[in-house]
Amino acid sequence: MAVDYAALKKGGFMRQKQKNTFSLRLQVVGGNLTAENLKKIAEVAEKYGDGHVHLTSRQSVEIPFVKLDDVEEVKEELAKGGCKPGVCGPRVRTVTACQGNQICPSGNIDTYDIAKKLDARYYARELPHKFKFGVTGCQNNCLKAEENDVGIKGAMVVEWDEPSCIMCGVCVKACREGAITMADGKIILDTDKCNYCGRCAKACPTDAWKGETGYLVSFGGLFGNTIHRGEELLPVVKSEEQLFRITDAAIQFFADNAKPSERFQFTLERVGLDKFKEILKEAYNG
Ligand code: SF4
Ligand code: SF4
Ligand code: SF4
Repeated sequence: MAVDYAALKKGGFMRQKQKNTFSLRLQVVGGNLTAENLKKIAEVAEKYGDGHVHLTSRQSVEIPFVKLDDVEEVKEELAKGGCKPGVCGPRVRTVTACQGNQICPSGNIDTYDIAKKLDARYYARELPHKFKFGVTGCQNNCLKAEENDVGIKGAMVVEWDEPSCIMCGVCVKACREGAITMADGKIILDTDKCNYCGRCAKACPTDAWKGETGYLVSFGGLFGNTIHRGEELLPVVKSEEQLFRITDAAIQFFADNAKPSERFQFTLERVGLDKFKEILKEAYNG
């Protein structure tokens, strides 16, 4: 019987150069796996692979050297440890994330929570080409949001609360953008220079910076044969509801307009950024 390699690839079994041998990609959300997942992965790699795993550039785990005859057994075995095969090909891929504000002191948003919600909403959705989401918690950009078709970056919109300020100057030093100056007993914030990193609010000893968290969203990132930095086309997004309206609009624009094997950035260039911006504006405004 002919082997359906396309179906296997869709189900995460990627053909190796060795005949009838596959590197199995697992589904990982936001770069997190439990100890139970890891034990099972190790067990399967020893029993059905050659005893090693590969950590991919996008936070996934692959188990190489799985034999064609073992595919179904491997799936059943992995399920016992709460693991599922991933996907490859023209569909929504692994949603990546940094550790975010549940762990990292610099984080402005709960990246893992957003990654899980994006995963539940879109993972494996069939599209004209691959589509990648990445979520990073702040301007340090450990997850490199702009590499993704849609990148999400945690932001903090800050406002100075004069009565709480003791004029210590800590925030002036903390701001890498030079957006804060102190003169005549006042703090002046240059909003044009502010990049919403939130460092001033985190550094202030008296909580005199009030921060409202939000999201900066970039579109059209590519980091393969062609390199293009995803572009932020909207002001700070203020709520999760608004964020998902925007991600819905972006992915639908891609589904409606992309040619087969065309990455999002090339669709944007061909169809026109202005047209996309109109759709984004509608989604932003609800
Ligand atoms: S991007 Fe920010 S929140 Fe995420 S791990 Fe790096 S420093 Fe922490
Ligand atoms: S949020 Fe960041 S860039 Fe903006 S004023 Fe505070 S420290 Fe400066
Ligand atoms: S760090 Fe806080 S208390 Fe110190 S000058 Fe800035 S706002 Fe005022």
